[in-house]
Amino acid sequence: MSRILLLVDRLQQQHLPIAHLNTEHEVIVLDRNCDPNSEFPIPQITFDLCILDEENLAPIGPLVEALKAAAEPIFLPFLLLGKSQTPALSEPQFSQQAQQLDRRIDDLITTPVDAAQLHLRVENLLARRRLSLELHRLQEVIKERTFRESLLIDSLQTANENLQREIAKRAQVETALRENSYLDLLMNAMPDIVCFKDGEGRWLEANQAILEVFELSADEYCGLTDSQLGELSSFYREALQACEVSDRTAWEKGTLSRGEEVISRSDGTVKIYDVIKVPVFHPDGRRKSIVILGRDITEYKQARDELVRLASIVESSDDGIIGKTLAGTIQSWNAGAEKIYGYGAPFVKGQSIEILAIPERPKEMSQILENIRAGATIDHYETVHLRKDGKQIDVSLTISPIKDATGTLTGVSTIARDISDSKRVEKALEQLRHQTEMILFSAGEGICGLNKQGKVTFVNPAAVRMAGCESKELIDRPLYETINRSQEESSKAIELLSPATDINSGSELATDGAALATGKQPHRVSSQILATLADGEARRVTDEVFWRRDGSSFPVEYVVAPMRERGEIIGAVVTFKDITDRLAVERMKDEFISVVSHELRTPMTSIHGALGLLNSGILDAHPQKAKRMLEIAVTNTDRLVRLINDILDLERMESSYSTAVKQTCSIAELMLQAADEMQGMAQQAGVTLSVMPVAAQLRAVPDRLIQALTNLLSNAIKFSPAGATIWLSGELTHNRDVAEKAGSSLLSPEPAANPHLPVSSEILIAVKDQGRGIPADKLEMVFERFQQVDASDSRQKGGTGLGLAICRSIVQQHGGRIWVESVLGEGSTFFLSLPVIGEGLATES
Ligand code: ADP
Repeated sequence: MSRILLLVDRLQQQHLPIAHLNTEHEVIVLDRNCDPNSEFPIPQITFDLCILDEENLAPIGPLVEALKAAAEPIFLPFLLLGKSQTPALSEPQFSQQAQQLDRRIDDLITTPVDAAQLHLRVENLLARRRLSLELHRLQEVIKERTFRESLLIDSLQTANENLQREIAKRAQVETALRENSYLDLLMNAMPDIVCFKDGEGRWLEANQAILEVFELSADEYCGLTDSQLGELSSFYREALQACEVSDRTAWEKGTLSRGEEVISRSDGTVKIYDVIKVPVFHPDGRRKSIVILGRDITEYKQARDELVRLASIVESSDDGIIGKTLAGTIQSWNAGAEKIYGYGAPFVKGQSIEILAIPERPKEMSQILENIRAGATIDHYETVHLRKDGKQIDVSLTISPIKDATGTLTGVSTIARDISDSKRVEKALEQLRHQTEMILFSAGEGICGLNKQGKVTFVNPAAVRMAGCESKELIDRPLYETINRSQEESSKAIELLSPATDINSGSELATDGAALATGKQPHRVSSQILATLADGEARRVTDEVFWRRDGSSFPVEYVVAPMRERGEIIGAVVTFKDITDRLAVERMKDEFISVVSHELRTPMTSIHGALGLLNSGILDAHPQKAKRMLEIAVTNTDRLVRLINDILDLERMESSYSTAVKQTCSIAELMLQAADEMQGMAQQAGVTLSVMPVAAQLRAVPDRLIQALTNLLSNAIKFSPAGATIWLSGELTHNRDVAEKAGSSLLSPEPAANPHLPVSSEILIAVKDQGRGIPADKLEMVFERFQQVDASDSRQKGGTGLGLAICRSIVQQHGGRIWVESVLGEGSTFFLSLPVIGEGLATES
């Protein structure tokens, strides 16, 4: 059933056939005329069709439009009861609204109204209305279904998104979990110490490193404070308490704090940690947790301390320590370098090391750098450097490469030491050592150094020469095993010697215990030396012999002096000399004195006897005999005078020659002068003197040489018969020629024996006579003192037997030789060879 709203005048209602409508539909009639001022209550009434007449259209026209618009999209029909088919067009006021009416009015029915028409029209409009409603409903259903489906899709999508989010979240959680285990791994693998504590200082998390430091295990720390952990590990109690204190400081500070903590380990080592503490607070200010991170800086600190120590050593070193690049640019320069070279560090830094090079060695520095770059290290290289003030100084350099941790060469370090002073000292010492060595080597005395055990540590050439062996045969052996042989041998040799004075005689000698035990005389040589080594007393010994390698011995005089170091005896020095010559001279002197006393006594006895007779008056009556006595006295006085003169000559010769001044002389002049002096004697004897001088210069004491020549000439005259000739000749020769000339009868045959001797010029003077000659076995003897071929010579020829001895002494003191060749009955030739000098020397005064 539909609801039909009827907006028609009462009058119209009466003619309107709505009876049928009333039966099938609900018809609501609104009659405006009954209350013309009242508003239509249409909006409050729901209806399916509205029938209105023309009179009502004007006032509700806008309303109809609003109602239709409100019902949209459902069709709400309006049926107009009009007087004509085009009621709107007939009225001028509606003429404009005709089209609008078309839109508002759905159907028009003219009055009077036919019931069937009305019914048909109404039913048609209501059918449209129902169809519209159905359509709308269907649309709504469709819409509803579509909405629900979309809702489902939306919910599925939402569910899907949630699921995705959930999956992502789970993935994140898984990642986080994974990361957490990585974090654990990482934390435990870290060498740094890591610890998380809660607001009350209880340990929440700690990595392996911190657990190792405090020697804790992973399952015992959780939830415990430092103090509680200190109870567990009493060794670290103090360290843990110190941590607690520094935690408190960090909390009070409220922000990141950093400091060093020193922990003594139970193994005795001390660890130093650089510790960072980060306190974390709740938003309300309560303490939440504290994060502790610590790095072991023990090695770093040690390295830094070492570096500081090294730096202070470098700075305080007296040596110059210079760092430079491989190219030689100075990078570091210590105070020592400043002191040595005079340059300040700011000036030299950045400069080339070449500023220290001296002009004479321009390539030295670059060469050194090249060697270092090639991997070499130079130790104690001594060179000369230039100071800032231009002075050159001796330096000793130690140059090494500087390498980084990877072994790469990064620079060069030079340690320079000023050795100028030590060089000077070294030079002085060297000179001293050289001098000492020269003294030792040139000393005529044998010098042996002994160690505490009496073994030879040093021998000089004279000692080696005297021992007749090589130095290596003496070194490191006891002196008494080499230079001394055996006690018996030594004693026998000593007995053979003439008695000598021992400054120690009378003093108690150190004795050899073993020798004493056997009752034998102790080995004096070794005991004297060993005694000095034992008691440190110097000794001088003059009555012993030393032995040569060939088994021969020689008398010695030696002094043994102790060597001390810081008061302790470390050895001894034995200084010895061969006293064979001295003993021979002493022996000769003894003989000489006995001969001289005999020789002097003989003429003295004659003089004494003759003068005694004269004095007694016995011969007063015999003037002839008295005269004879006087003659004897005079002759013997002459002989005594000659004897005394010759003895004095000889003695003077030996003692004063060294002080006589040699001068350059012409040998020809000396020969002529000697011949002149002897001319008178030759004439007296009726002998001819023939002189053939040679022109040569020599260094000589002229009077002495003349004395030698006159001696020889005097002998020749003495032993030549009247009418004979004596030749005094000279020639320049060489020592080898001389040797050849001399043959085997030479007094000094060495030159002939050794043809390798250097050949030097000599002057050979010969005094040749035609006298009686000298027997071959006396050729050598005649040069000895008081030796004459014939005992009657002294009486008959007035000789003393000292002339040739004087000649030999003179010639030897001039570096020459003298010898004689003779054929009995034919004559003798005395040769004198003397060294001549060159032109240059000849001009010397
Ligand atoms: P004296 O004063 O006896 O001559 P010398 O020493 O000069 O002493 O000579 C020693 C001895 O040598 C002589 O006594 C003599 O027997 C011998 N004598 C020296 N010269 C000759 C000579 N020219 N001819 C022979 N015999 C000589």
